[in-house]
Amino acid sequence: MILNTNAKNTWCIGCGNFAILNAIKAVINELVAEGLPVENIVLVSGIGCHAKIVDYIDVNSFYSLHGRVIPPATGIKIANPHLKVIGHSGDGDAYGEGIEHLIFAAKRNIDITVIVHNNRVYGLTTGQYTPTSPEGYKGRSTPYGTKEMPMNPLEIMLASGATFIGRGTSGAMESLKKIIKEAIAHKGFSIVDVLQTCVTYYNMYDYYDKRVYELKDHDPYNYDQAIGKIREWDYNKDAKIPIGVFYKRESPVFEESFKPSGAEGRDRSNGIKKILAESV
Ligand code: SF4
Repeated sequence: MILNTNAKNTWCIGCGNFAILNAIKAVINELVAEGLPVENIVLVSGIGCHAKIVDYIDVNSFYSLHGRVIPPATGIKIANPHLKVIGHSGDGDAYGEGIEHLIFAAKRNIDITVIVHNNRVYGLTTGQYTPTSPEGYKGRSTPYGTKEMPMNPLEIMLASGATFIGRGTSGAMESLKKIIKEAIAHKGFSIVDVLQTCVTYYNMYDYYDKRVYELKDHDPYNYDQAIGKIREWDYNKDAKIPIGVFYKRESPVFEESFKPSGAEGRDRSNGIKKILAESV
């Protein structure tokens, strides 16, 4: 299925977003070929270079506010649990402005997938540091180098209760497709952190090429193994960088236990009148 739209692509040539675009389009095509109606797929984006991805894929989508991918994605899933809801977010978007939403989505185990385009810089606004920029990163907002240590978002997700945690890179398309597809198939909250290179403001292609390796003989159902691999590279130290599925577990999903308000809840004015009458 051709999923292209007529929207003009404005990403810089060489941007890692292209790899994510191609990976998610390939995964959507596979899911549709396996029987998922295309109208049951909904993409949600935040604000940033990553967010334009929803303009470039011809499926149902919702362009949300900065850092607010999770609330509409959660609402869409609760309103219609048959939908496959896939959120695209940037690292500033997800781990900065939207971090509390992400933590609560993991805590609730809402059955959505979040793909973080993590280039470790605010690309759209020309190079400020983000929560995953390394200590000493020099950009528009930190010309002398940031003094902060980056956060390890995967460790935060594990601590918050996420039931699926993976990492891919924009330099390893086949593996990225596999991880994204597994994340979407997972029943529960899934997050894939994608090390996506911003060629214009933070070109990490060589750095990642030398350090990235695929997880082998790793048991994602083993918590201790997962935490070990998640801590192997902390987004700052010079170390090998594992990619693949770090952690997986089964747990009840939020939308199955969420009950919409009953008849009196829907009849709001009478409900309020009743409360006021009883309180006199
Ligand atoms: S600024 Fe960076 S992230 Fe944005 S489109 Fe250009 S290369 Fe991609």
